[in-house]
Amino acid sequence: MSTATAETTDEFTLLNADRCDRCGAPALVATAHLAGVLMFCAHHANEHLPALLADDRVTVIADQRHRLSDGVRS
Ligand SMILES: [Zn+2]
Repeated sequence: MSTATAETTDEFTLLNADRCDRCGAPALVATAHLAGVLMFCAHHANEHLPALLADDRVTVIADQRHRLSDGVRS
């Protein structure tokens, strides 16, 4: 099955040790590319995902931005 929309799976789990490839903040989004996996914090995911997803070879494999609104903040 193939669609143009982003699909996420629970198969890829982001760990606390995973960091945004842009700024080093804890990663909440992971995207798979031909060259490998890129991880982003919520800020950089919001900034870069629209452009990344314009390329249908890019797949969102984890999106845990909902954690921000689930009371993760202390
Ligand atoms: Zn970032």
